[in-house]
Formats: sequence, C-alpha cells, structure tokens
Amino acid sequence: MTDLSNSISHDEARAHAHLESLIWANGRCYPNCGEAERTSFVKDKSHRPGLYYCLSCKKQFTVTVGTLFERSKVPLHKWVLAFHLMSASKKGISSHQLHRMLGVTYKTAWFMTHRIREAIREDNPGPLGGKGVRVEVDETYLGKPDCVKAPDGRWQKKRGHGSKMAVLTLVERDGKARSFHIPNMRSTTLRQHIFPNVDRKSDLRTDQLKSYTTLGREFASHETVNHNIGEYARGDAGTQVVENYYSIFKHGLIGVYQHISAKHLKRYTCEFDYRYNFRHVTDSERAQEALKGISGKRLTYRQVGAGQAA
Ligand SMILES: [Zn+2]
Repeated sequence: MTDLSNSISHDEARAHAHLESLIWANGRCYPNCGEAERTSFVKDKSHRPGLYYCLSCKKQFTVTVGTLFERSKVPLHKWVLAFHLMSASKKGISSHQLHRMLGVTYKTAWFMTHRIREAIREDNPGPLGGKGVRVEVDETYLGKPDCVKAPDGRWQKKRGHGSKMAVLTLVERDGKARSFHIPNMRSTTLRQHIFPNVDRKSDLRTDQLKSYTTLGREFASHETVNHNIGEYARGDAGTQVVENYYSIFKHGLIGVYQHISAKHLKRYTCEFDYRYNFRHVTDSERAQEALKGISGKRLTYRQVGAGQAA
C-alpha cells in the first residue's frame, strides 16, 4: 500500500525525524568529527528543523551530513516522497513524472532519480546461489534495432542485435536478482560477470547459447532450455523466473523510461534489481531500505552527467 497522506512526505520536521530514526538507528552522531555523545538539539524555532549542535567542535549539523542529501536544496520531505514513489512504482518513475508531482524543476527531478539509484546500489554484494540453489542466467537486448536502406528505398531492420545494449541477469529461484550491462555475449565476458557473482555450488540454468557451455561445467549442475524453439520451461530446467524479471524490466524501460543511454543503463538495472530483491516487503519498508542507503555516498551533478561514481 502506498500511503501518500503520511506526514513524513509533506512535513519537514516529520521528514527529519523519520530520516533520523533510520540513519541514527544506533544513536545520533556527527560524522565530520565522530562525536556521538556530546551533541544537543537546537531548540530555537527560527532554525531549520532537525538541527543539532556538536559540543566538541561547536558546529551545527543535521542528519543529512555525510549523505547523498548533504548540500541538496530540495526539502527533505520531497526527498522522502521521491524515495517512496520510486520504491513503490513497480516499473519505476520517470524524471518528468517526479518533476510534476514534486513541483521541482525537471533538471532537479532528473538528478534526484539518479541519486536515488545511487542510494539503492548494493555495495560489494556477495555471490548469489549456493548449494542446492538454482540460479537462472539469461540475456536480453535493449534499444532500437539498426536499420538499413533497402534497394527499393524502404528502411529495413537489420538482422542481429546491432547496436542494441546487452543486459545479463542472474536470478536465484525464490531469491535475489543481479543485472549487468555487458559489451557482448562472448564467453570471456560472461565468465567475468558470472564467476564472481554466482557460487559454484549452485545449479545453473541457462538457454543453449554456446558461451554458457564451458563455464556451466564449473557449477554443481547446468541445464539448458532451447529458446529458439520457444522452450522456456522443462521440468526444473527452465528460465521462467528470469523471463518474469525481464517482463517487468522491459515494460518499465519501454513504458516509463523510453530512452536510456548506455552510459546510464547500469543505474537502471540496479533500480529494477532493487525493487525485485525487496518485492516481498511493503512499499514503505522498501522505501525505508532505500533511504538507509544514502549514508556515506556523495554524488555531484557532474558525476552523474559524466557517468562516473557508478
Ligand atoms: Zn564535533
């Protein structure tokens, strides 16, 4: 359920209190000097909400210090609402939509969506799968097909994947998903992504692409289905879980985001992975998890534009 009437998404003081309960779950701390004991609340009503004073270094601070929100001019309650909308919308939310719903400029909304994606990015995740766990691996292509002019002057779609962007996804059955934007489907590329991210004790499930054959031998088991003849399931050999994942992913990319540049694709794959991995909790819980990810991350407009800080 999405509860937009919750005061944390329209009351600045409540938004601060909400964020404090998540970020300072183990106690209030001023990260710039590390003081956790001797801090006090600044009571003066004319001050910004959620303002604290460090008795050690005599500086004022709020819960946003050292987070993705530091130096942001966007009110905190709008951030909280944006995190909620992004977490609760199954196929994502566009910057245009956020711009209209929050009453911020399009440029600000665009930057906000990328900061949210930065917050939900998993740091150093361990390998998926394990003994007795089935991991489905599949690939998909995004973007428009390349076209060539036929002799009769009409435009024709070129065969093959052309300049489409390749995405590789690993999904545990009943578990988590992890996706990557990859340059090609060669065996070496697949190894680079699959080996560090899937436990070798796992049971691998893929389609019959040749690149999977040799690397599949290094797993506890490897079974394939033949997508070319429309086979997606055969006993427990199927890849239906990853197909379901792609169904949401593609609907989101086509319906909501429409044009995604190769530079930013990685951020969008993180976003869809995130919602998938937290699919069994409520929208509010999913948004809270996302908000916890703002700590210790900084992202500037320049970094987003240049495709760095990924
Ligand atoms: Zn201090």
